[in-house]
Amino acid sequence: MFKKILIANRGEIACRIMQTAQKLGVATVAVYSDADREAKHVAMADEAVHIGGSTPRDSYLRGDVIIAAAKATGAQAIHPGYGFLSENPDFVDSVAAAGLVFIGPSAKAIRAMGLKDAAKRLMQAAGVPVVPGYLGENQDPEHLAAQAGKITYPVLIKAVAGGGGKGMRRVNRPADFADALASAKGEAATAFGNDAVLIEKYVEKPRHIEVQVFGDGKDALHLFERDCSLQRRHQKVIEEAPAPDMPPEMRQAMGDAAVKAARAIGYKGAGTIEFIVDASDGLRADRFWFMEMNTRLQVEHPVTEAITGIDLVEWQLRVAAGESLPLQQEDLTINGHAFEARLYAEDVPAGFLPATGRLEHLKFPPGARADSGVRAGDSISPWYDPMIAKIIVHGPTRAVALSKLRRALALTEVAGSVTNLAFLGALARHKGFARGDVDTGLIERDIMSLTSETPACDGVKALAVLAVAALPQDTLTGFTQGTPMQRAIALSHRGEALSAGLAVQGPDRADVTIGDRVIAARRRGPDWGVDGQSARVVVKGAKIYVFTADDTYAFTAIDPLDRDTTAAAGGKATLSPMPGLVKAVFVTPGQSVCAGDRLAVLEAMKMEHTLAAARDGIVAEVLVEAGQQVEAGAALILLEDEA
Ligand code: ADP
Ligand code: ADP
Ligand code: MG
Repeated sequence: MFKKILIANRGEIACRIMQTAQKLGVATVAVYSDADREAKHVAMADEAVHIGGSTPRDSYLRGDVIIAAAKATGAQAIHPGYGFLSENPDFVDSVAAAGLVFIGPSAKAIRAMGLKDAAKRLMQAAGVPVVPGYLGENQDPEHLAAQAGKITYPVLIKAVAGGGGKGMRRVNRPADFADALASAKGEAATAFGNDAVLIEKYVEKPRHIEVQVFGDGKDALHLFERDCSLQRRHQKVIEEAPAPDMPPEMRQAMGDAAVKAARAIGYKGAGTIEFIVDASDGLRADRFWFMEMNTRLQVEHPVTEAITGIDLVEWQLRVAAGESLPLQQEDLTINGHAFEARLYAEDVPAGFLPATGRLEHLKFPPGARADSGVRAGDSISPWYDPMIAKIIVHGPTRAVALSKLRRALALTEVAGSVTNLAFLGALARHKGFARGDVDTGLIERDIMSLTSETPACDGVKALAVLAVAALPQDTLTGFTQGTPMQRAIALSHRGEALSAGLAVQGPDRADVTIGDRVIAARRRGPDWGVDGQSARVVVKGAKIYVFTADDTYAFTAIDPLDRDTTAAAGGKATLSPMPGLVKAVFVTPGQSVCAGDRLAVLEAMKMEHTLAAARDGIVAEVLVEAGQQVEAGAALILLEDEA
């Protein structure tokens, strides 16, 4: 076994690899970019080497600098993780040339599987079923259109150099072919610098089922299948093992085909053979076809680990260090069922836009494995993929594992960035998914219901109000500890102001007024419960996060006297912090005011609030008069622009 290895990666996978290295007594060297100076993978490693700027091109893709770091630290081998340099055969050659071991397949095996058309031809020759289609060199548009006609529509145009779902277009009828071809080629040229495409039959009711293979260069075996059909835009969202309703004879046939594929290229290390399956008539042993091989450890490898009890990274290190396959095919069995959900910092309502932010609070659920490259206090930077964690559960049956997944997602807490957690939870509760009736179109078909936001209910708002009242530096007006008086509390939530009344009735009883509803709250231990329910509440500064089983709700406490929050737009407008009645206005247009001067008085929640000037200036406009009822957020007084 190696004494020391370098991990040429970052985030959760770098941490995952180090965990096994530590278990095996292998010292670890991390590499990091400017953005990752304080990252978890750096803290976890025995040594760390800075390799450049924040963009991957300036750091994690610099093979020469990484190899130099390995030499300088005395590492004997390099683990590439996934992504970055993991499937770059030139890097593998350079590692070998430097006298180091690449923990993964040979450059030759990577090259053989690098282009989808060549890989498919190779697999066809090895007797592995491939999707019917055109794999030829002739890229003339008319020729390709004729081939598409022969295959019969619908067809799928795929970039031969493709990955990550890029350069792929489904075409339903001949009239659309030319345009789809042009756009697939354009995307492929930009993303991969290679615009060659192949054409495949588009498989109906497609399921993505892949087989984990493992080789030692002499022999190969498989570790069963994973179902990755829950995809959004060809990207995996929730993966599971084994595949639901997999008939034993089909598992046998797919496993045999995958091992045949791995043997055909003398495969060494962990790899995945991806198959597309026609599930229009259930799963049948003659309806799966080779799609591509990924010559690395996959993101979703933990579900295979969960059902086989094998540490795949340990196998990678042992085989790279010269050992033969640690077990034989007949030693392997499937134990129970596992799911993995990919938790991302993503703005789901904005179309799954990657989000960034400092994770003010991060709590992973009990009863689940959480593979993560970040800790509370770390930031999700714009430089890399915004993954927060992979949540993995295992149970004796699919139904039990799915219940555990729902529970794990419900108990996961992330504050400081929006996430796809509610979307994952909705998927875990999806009826078709629960039945195992999955295909790659499931998410798209039900995207509206899966991404619909549940607005904060009054109970959630009441919990946020109670949390504000418990803020240690309570600067809100009109509050005297212990007196059962009505007190106003202002919050903002999803960009809107929210005002509430709070009447403390005793140490463990309070009434919260929201609109015309009065909600009775009772203390249960340290927490408040409302409407017979409780939720977890976390307060970070002026931010309040309420975690329910289905969603996360963020609120910001507003101090009515805080000039920064009441005077928005660069101090130009004084806004009403809550709905109320304007009692008095003290200024007229043209009048000079100083920061802190009284501008108006607002009556809300049976209390009077003085609104003060945020800065020195001249009153430009007075938009309200005494006696007028105003909405939360209404502009009351405008100052002239600053000179
Ligand atoms: P990538 O290299 O981008 O991962 P793949 O060839 O693995 O490309 O395909 C990505 C996804 O596209 C698959 O997981 C599947 O959902 C879908 N797909 C690929 N080929 C077909 C096909 N022939 N018919 C239907 N869907 C397909
Ligand atoms: P406000 O509630 O003050 O109107 P936002 O809705 O923009 O403002 O939320 C404030 C902050 O709270 C966000 O910038 C983000 O850091 C965090 N946040 C918002 N929604 C969530 C969520 N669903 N999960 C975790 N954190 C969140
Ligand atoms: Mg793929």
